[in-house]
Amino acid sequence: MTDNGKIAFLDLVSVHEELEKELVAVFQKALRTAGFIGGPMVEEFERSFAAFCETRFAIGVNSGTDALRFALMAAGVREGDSVVTVANTFIATTEAISQAGARPEFVDIDDRTYNIDPEKLRSFLEQQCSRDHAGQLISRRTGRPVTAVVPVHLYGQTADMDAIEELADHYKLVVIEDACQAHGAEYFSNRDHRWKKAGSVGKAAAFSFYPGKNLGACGEAGIVTTNDEEMARHIRMIRDHGQAKKYYHDIEGYNGRLDSIQAGFLSVKLKYLPSWNQSRCDHARKYNELFAAAETNIITPYEPSWSKANYHLYVIQVENREAVQTALSKENIGTGIHYPIPLHLQKAYTNLGYRLGDLPVCEKAAGRILSLPMFPGLSEPAQARVVQAVIRSVQRTTADRTATVSA
Ligand SMILES: *Cc1c(COP(=O)(O)O)cnc(C)c1O
Repeated sequence: MTDNGKIAFLDLVSVHEELEKELVAVFQKALRTAGFIGGPMVEEFERSFAAFCETRFAIGVNSGTDALRFALMAAGVREGDSVVTVANTFIATTEAISQAGARPEFVDIDDRTYNIDPEKLRSFLEQQCSRDHAGQLISRRTGRPVTAVVPVHLYGQTADMDAIEELADHYKLVVIEDACQAHGAEYFSNRDHRWKKAGSVGKAAAFSFYPGKNLGACGEAGIVTTNDEEMARHIRMIRDHGQAKKYYHDIEGYNGRLDSIQAGFLSVKLKYLPSWNQSRCDHARKYNELFAAAETNIITPYEPSWSKANYHLYVIQVENREAVQTALSKENIGTGIHYPIPLHLQKAYTNLGYRLGDLPVCEKAAGRILSLPMFPGLSEPAQARVVQAVIRSVQRTTADRTATVSA
């Protein structure tokens, strides 16, 4: 690689070139059987993904957003409910909550993991909610019943699920994991004395197979995982117009099915997921080492002892994020910001009535985070160049600022 050769934030082309033969074979099989919707390719993928997540069931749907919406609906979240989640996530998390008829309510995050802070969840439940005459937990902000919590396993690292599950048990909340970034991530549960896969902890979990995810389709796709047979049955109905038998509609549902061709592609790619995730973890370790060797105030990702992250993203914090991002872009290095504006401050959610200052940890992080190139095929020289460029631009902006202050 030359010095100013492009380092992509995410290279999706090479991986598909390598798999072209296998993927084309799937396409041909689908053409020759005209099996485009449902059928053996979908069922086979559902079985293998359930096995991968160590859950009893997996129900393929057409996106991660629908996976989350259907899981919430099947879990009994209803029109008028309040559902607790975080504001530093992709808007799909809260769209799914709204589309299920509920209203999102936000609690702040842990400043090291970027995931929901269980102590803040506790204080929300203890201090900002009360019980009505029937014993139902009511949010004082919204006057609505609080019925569910959606922890987001952001950047591919699980939230602190034991603490969340304990609160959920106590307050009778259903837990739906947003595992859309967390394929293969693991959590050590002290309650169960074992490592558990993301997607196997809550009542149900939603995964996305958007092309850029650790396991991506060649188009749109998602899946719900659960150990609950009734949930699985219900979600199968919801995704298919409310029918268990063709043209016998027990409820109104959606057209939310997973394409057979996408399921076939995903079965091919699932075989490689463990080694892809391993490569991402190796790259993360390499980045950590390179940053640690330089004395800077760049904050690298924190992985608690109870977590095995899949490094969907490698996110650092720097003080002058815009300058650093511009400098990297000038050196042909792709970066991202996940996410620049927390949801409670988005125009789409002015109706929720939040203000700047309501979620200080999340707001502070949003101004400092920067996602560096991360994908299985990332090379060591490329990583070294990224780290040098980051360090150089951090030092330069610090020097500029010192000069300005003393001028
Ligand atoms: C990608 C993503 C989703 C939505 O998935 P789609 O398949 O794009 O609908 C939801 N939540 C999070 C955290 C995501 O990263």
